[in-house]
Amino acid sequence: MRLLLMGPPGAGKGTQAQIVSGSLGIPHISTGDIFRLNVGQGTPLGIEAKRYMDAGEYVPDDVTNAMVRDRIGQPDCANGFLLDGFPRTVEQVGELDAMLREAGWSLDYVVELTVDIDEVVGRLVKRAADQGRTDDSEEVIRRRLEVYSLQTAPLIELYGARGILRQVDGMGAVEEVAARLRAAIGIDH
Ligand code: AMP
Repeated sequence: MRLLLMGPPGAGKGTQAQIVSGSLGIPHISTGDIFRLNVGQGTPLGIEAKRYMDAGEYVPDDVTNAMVRDRIGQPDCANGFLLDGFPRTVEQVGELDAMLREAGWSLDYVVELTVDIDEVVGRLVKRAADQGRTDDSEEVIRRRLEVYSLQTAPLIELYGARGILRQVDGMGAVEEVAARLRAAIGIDH
């Protein structure tokens, strides 16, 4: 199964992605996690990405696309994967389409986790306190939500038109949301 999980920052994408990829036995590919790993290790990619992440902006498409191309070309992705946080721009959609086409693959589903925006801000503020993330100050949170609605929300319509979009209510307990998500993509475990 090849899946894509979308939703605004704080929608619970990472948590749900981990649960669903675990049930399906496919790798969970989070571009945010890969960037954070590189930031932590001080690699050139991490040094470049941090500037954008700390401001709540997107890392440039060419950098992000190359990173994803490399990741989905790894052997563990041959039987499927779950993309979390990519694509986030129309240009990234075009690149992903090209990568999939070259491999003879296609996406089975795009899942959008829908949430209440006030609830999301609350979750992000709490996560900032818990994890000490430098991209979770209130000002940066607002910018990240703004960038999402400007650059990423249009992708929902795009995938909707392709008939592979499934919208899942992301509010409520983690297990409740996971159950809705499984039902939406037709898996029963
Ligand atoms: P996330 O953990 O998915 O919210 O990602 C954290 C940050 O990493 C984002 O705010 C962006 O700065 C960067 N990032 C993650 N995925 C992408 C992407 N697909 N395109 C550009 N920037 C990204």
